[in-house]
Amino acid sequence: MSFFDKVKQGASEAAKKAQQTVEITKFKTQVSLKEREIDKIYKIIGESVYTSYLSGDYTQVEANVSEYCQGIAQINQEISELEQKIAEVRNEKECKCGKVVAADTKFCSSCGHHFA
Ligand SMILES: [Zn+2]
Repeated sequence: MSFFDKVKQGASEAAKKAQQTVEITKFKTQVSLKEREIDKIYKIIGESVYTSYLSGDYTQVEANVSEYCQGIAQINQEISELEQKIAEVRNEKECKCGKVVAADTKFCSSCGHHFA
């Protein structure tokens, strides 16, 4: 490869890296927005439980709380999808043991899991 080809390749790799950083930042922003949504729901759950305590009637809150918790579970699911996307952009994947490895890895270096 000529010197100029190497320079060109280096430049396009730098551009690709910059693009990756932009995408990762975008996904991370979405993750923190969703985490804030979860915090809001936690607060609502706390308030509704306290309101029930004051009124001495917990019959209504039970249904509400389980609805709010389903909402949190849904958002957590969306967060893990975003984290999956971040790993893909980084050219990484996560093993079932939790170790993050390069996307083309065949065996996990931590637990020995064979990726299909
Ligand atoms: Zn593993």
